[in-house]
Amino acid sequence: MAKKIVVLGSLNVDSIMKMPRMPLVGETMALTDVATAPGGKGANQAVAAARQGAQVDFIGAVGQDANGTFMRQTLQDNGVDVSAVTVNPQVPTGSAYIMLQANGANTILIHGGANQALTLADLDEAIIAQADTLIAQFEVPLDVITAAFKLAKTHDVQTVLNPAPAVYDITPTLASLTDIILPNETEAQLLTGIPVTNDEAVLNQVSDALLAMGIPRSIITLGDAGAFIADGDQRWWAQPKKVAAVDTTAAGDTFIGTLANELAPDMHNLAQAVDRASTASAIAVTRHGAIPSIPTRDEVDQF
Ligand code: ADP
Repeated sequence: MAKKIVVLGSLNVDSIMKMPRMPLVGETMALTDVATAPGGKGANQAVAAARQGAQVDFIGAVGQDANGTFMRQTLQDNGVDVSAVTVNPQVPTGSAYIMLQANGANTILIHGGANQALTLADLDEAIIAQADTLIAQFEVPLDVITAAFKLAKTHDVQTVLNPAPAVYDITPTLASLTDIILPNETEAQLLTGIPVTNDEAVLNQVSDALLAMGIPRSIITLGDAGAFIADGDQRWWAQPKKVAAVDTTAAGDTFIGTLANELAPDMHNLAQAVDRASTASAIAVTRHGAIPSIPTRDEVDQF
């Protein structure tokens, strides 16, 4: 039977602007190329879970505009149910402006739009109640995430928190409602105040800090160094799969969506779930883009 996953998160339309270098203040510069793509961490994670075979519901919001139609259609095309996506006529759909320089460096500006206008009234208790797992990131308001996690725990639904981007502190209430947290290296540093490196002693310290906040399990993702997992006192590395990376966009989102689909209710299979998530994200980094790079269940099986 397919796992039932609810993603509470962001829907953005990304404008990717290719440029020789960053313009100076006051300069007018020609772009070398421009493209539009569906994005938002919520959307990416929902698609990642759906491609692994999960039955996914999305809770979020778009504006009453062409971008909103595009994002709802993108989710539907990927088998994600959008009946709990609010259409808010007051604000535009979320958008991101990715300035990609010829040397590969990127700078991103985000307008939260409808994502940031999400309120408690947009939470559908019945949809959360029927789920096995609820996933959230930090691209929607913190009070909405906290309320959703409260509903999840009331109905015995597993909670997965991706504190990305690390714009909020983890409150004691949110920590007490979180079953597993997955920050990347930068987010782990911002949340704990510990300068994160790949050194095991440092990673144990970061894991201890997350545990001390009241979250029983953590996975710190470390790009091409893999991931460091803490399940209470048990600690281990998930070695990265060896691939030739071309674009790491959505690596973390692919990892999280895949992991959520694999996790057993008591997480006794955490190591196995992490291994599959590592494979899925390794495949994603061998391809360009966000949603187009996310692999299907068959592709992960065949890796
Ligand atoms: P984020 O996209 O959130 O910054 P990371 O960059 O930490 O996330 O990547 C998430 C996961 O993707 C890693 O834990 C690893 O399993 C996988 N991954 C990322 N980059 C590579 C790579 N170059 N080769 C293999 N796996 C990778």
